[in-house]
Amino acid sequence: MRARLNKLKTTSLRIDIEGRDEVATLGHNINLMMSAINVETDKNRRQTRQLLEQRKAMERLANVDSLTGLFNRQFCTEYLRIQQIRARRSTRNVALIFFDLDGFKGINDRFGHATGDLLLIEVGKRVKGYIREGDLLSRWGGDEFLILLHDDPDEFTLVNIANRIINGLREPFHINNWEINIGASVGIVSGQNSGHNLSDLISNADVAMYRSKMAGRGGYTIFAQEMMEDSKRKLRIASSIASAIKHDEFELVYQGKVCPQANLFGFEALLRWHNPELGPLSPGEFIPIAEQSGKITDITRWVLERLCRDLPRIHEIAGKERPVSVNLSALDLKKPGLFEFIEGLLAAYQIDPAWLEFEVTESAYLANFDMANRFFQAVSKMGCSLALDDFGVGYSSLSYLTQIPINTLKIDKQFVDNIDSSDKDIVVMKAIIGMAKHLRLNICAEGIETRGQFDFMVENGCNQLQGYLFFKPARLQDLTARPDRQLTGPGLPPGGQTHRRDTE
Ligand code: C2E
Ligand code: CA
Ligand code: CA
Repeated sequence: MRARLNKLKTTSLRIDIEGRDEVATLGHNINLMMSAINVETDKNRRQTRQLLEQRKAMERLANVDSLTGLFNRQFCTEYLRIQQIRARRSTRNVALIFFDLDGFKGINDRFGHATGDLLLIEVGKRVKGYIREGDLLSRWGGDEFLILLHDDPDEFTLVNIANRIINGLREPFHINNWEINIGASVGIVSGQNSGHNLSDLISNADVAMYRSKMAGRGGYTIFAQEMMEDSKRKLRIASSIASAIKHDEFELVYQGKVCPQANLFGFEALLRWHNPELGPLSPGEFIPIAEQSGKITDITRWVLERLCRDLPRIHEIAGKERPVSVNLSALDLKKPGLFEFIEGLLAAYQIDPAWLEFEVTESAYLANFDMANRFFQAVSKMGCSLALDDFGVGYSSLSYLTQIPINTLKIDKQFVDNIDSSDKDIVVMKAIIGMAKHLRLNICAEGIETRGQFDFMVENGCNQLQGYLFFKPARLQDLTARPDRQLTGPGLPPGGQTHRRDTE
């Protein structure tokens, strides 16, 4: 038998057959076997090719954000890890620009998620034009983007890129026939000032970005080590809230408001927190932290319940006709179930809804317009009053005032402070008061500290006044219905309004 394996091409593996029958049969069988092997080999090769293609597609999917087509967080983290190892071996730094869109949530609420998605795609496209070739842009998650910059850029370059992003994203987007305006808050971090630890680098970029948000959005912040101390304190505060509620560390104090005759009109409930380790904390510090850490609703529920428990004592001191107002946070309005909770409390403590007023800031109302309106329509129908807090700072768009069921405008302390120094503020204030009167709203001026401020506000038509001139916030056991200052003499109008404008 002469058999030769033709090894040149595996597809032609065959045996040449010459000789007797049994040898021929054997050869024939071997050939059949070889054909079968060839078919199998082809199949295996096809499968291997398919598997390789699938793996490539899977890798691509694992590395790319499916919405924007930018690199995703997973890929970016891995890439950053490699860059950091390289940076550690050399003198080069790793630099990041982290940015978050301002007001993206509102866009989703107002225009729908499909438009929100298109906006994210457009943001990605736009920002690609602001970075250099070799810089890596990724969608970090939600409306957060991270840029890993190559070639160890100096601070001037980093700031330049940050400014291009900020200014570029300020330009309106045109999506689905809408003109959409957003902005971005940017955090900049470079290995130089942030250490070389991967998670530190990213969390520092986040801290810097967050600073920009707090500073009024639409700006950039370069990370500095001192910022860590601040963010550690925030973390401590956030993680102490749950136990503070459990251990009754919170307390409500009440600040009286007066009518133009300087007699008690009602109260505002204000929250205080004394933590054994952190000491006394002001709501100005811990409320925003509670909001950011998702703990505000627990606090609000505690406040509402404590107020209901305190009300009988307040009524003993001041009488039932004095409404007590309580502050709600923007986030309270977004969480379902608040109305039912309030309804349940009022029933359990047998509280007349007319004794209560809810204060919400103008920006909170506008940021959640539909939800806020639904909530306020419901509480208003039940008989509670509503006040728009801190009016005059922020949006101050007047057009929507006719569309919402409010009873009172609270003019912010900032405005009251400026009446001595700013003629423009006086004009704006007079316009606000005039309009509020036309809408038959009550007007409460906050932060009245001087007789001059009181006179000015009363002369211009405010019918509620709140400030240290009359009452400082007091604990329940120290509460009194008598203002610190009983005003007499010129400036005090002969017959101020003691009732609500809307009940006149
Ligand atoms: P706000 O609602 O505008 O409350 C008025 C703030 O001005 C209070 O500060 C009050 O003590 C202060 N104030 C009143 N009159 C005067 C005055 O004549 N001069 C000065 N300098 N200040 C005056 P406070 O109690 O520190 O509260 C700060 C902010 O914290 C409040 O501003 C409110 O936004 C928030 N807050 C307070 N309690 C609560 C609460 O229970 N829930 C929520 N969500 N926020 C609260
Ligand atoms: Ca308030
Ligand atoms: Ca206020």
